[in-house]
Amino acid sequence: MQAIIYEGPHTLSVREIPKPQPKEGWALVKVSHAGICGTDLNIYAGTHPRAKAPLVMSHEFSGTLESDHIPGIPKGSPVTVYPLLSCGHCQPCQTGNGHVCNTLGLLGIDCDGGFAEYVSVPVASIIPLAPEVSQKLGALVEPVAVAVHTLRERGFVPGDNALIFGCGTIGLCVALTLRKFGASCVLMMETDAARAQMAREMGFEVVNPIGLEMESFCKERTKGNGYDWVFDCAGVQPVADVLLDAVKVRGHIVVVAAYSKPASLPLIKGMFKETDLQFVRVYRFKDFEVAAQIVAADPSFKQIITHVLPATEAQKGFDLLTTKGTGAVKVMFCFD
Ligand SMILES: [Zn+2]
Ligand SMILES: [Zn+2]
Repeated sequence: MQAIIYEGPHTLSVREIPKPQPKEGWALVKVSHAGICGTDLNIYAGTHPRAKAPLVMSHEFSGTLESDHIPGIPKGSPVTVYPLLSCGHCQPCQTGNGHVCNTLGLLGIDCDGGFAEYVSVPVASIIPLAPEVSQKLGALVEPVAVAVHTLRERGFVPGDNALIFGCGTIGLCVALTLRKFGASCVLMMETDAARAQMAREMGFEVVNPIGLEMESFCKERTKGNGYDWVFDCAGVQPVADVLLDAVKVRGHIVVVAAYSKPASLPLIKGMFKETDLQFVRVYRFKDFEVAAQIVAADPSFKQIITHVLPATEAQKGFDLLTTKGTGAVKVMFCFD
């Protein structure tokens, strides 16, 4: 079968490899679409601590079930896959929090993932897609699940307002999910003009935060209070600098982004405002199911997908996301 292989830092190849043979409790999925995630960019850069070449990357993909022994999901069904590999016996796993397992692994990082014609996955991780969901949208369920988890896990309340830093895939997924979950108002901040434009086309107001006096700006927008919720989907120091200026007294800050470098925060401001500062990691199985339902009901999520390329253009796909100003947000490969 054809696969995109990570061969080492900054090196990809597209070549034939043997079709995977599912072990006991695993099943074969014929891949349709598979997206490039920030994690895949880290692997490609050679900075991911666990990924070892040669590797078939991608943990966000859709396809059709090839195996015919799974009760309730006939062969040929459109599916997506919950890509987490939890150990099942550490304390987080035993207390119902397998998504933050002490030794959490993922398909596409700790074993081969979706950048190939076929992928082997645990049977229990298969999530059927509604017939109205395209395979392209099916491959977007994973980042939408991050947004769903962010709001469900941290207790977002309908009617609250929100500020989001970053109009990348995750920022846009959080914005659309907030709209679904009944936010009274969503403002986004982004420095990249193409990404800001895209968010505007999806109906969001976007402000460039460079040079903005954050605290007074946010108060002005919120009757003098600051935002109920501030979501950091950017993960860079200039954002960490102002998170505590944007939030209201006793408001909520959620760091969704993966900070690649240590950041500093003016924590004294958090003390004065008695805010909370929370983090989220991936998603629960339930979040994935909710995300699959949400994309079925709202095709506007499709706008996040800017490029769908054939596997032979693997290098181009990664270049689009590692070069500034291309306007690329979610880039996928199609294996159909
Ligand atoms: Zn991802
Ligand atoms: Zn565990």
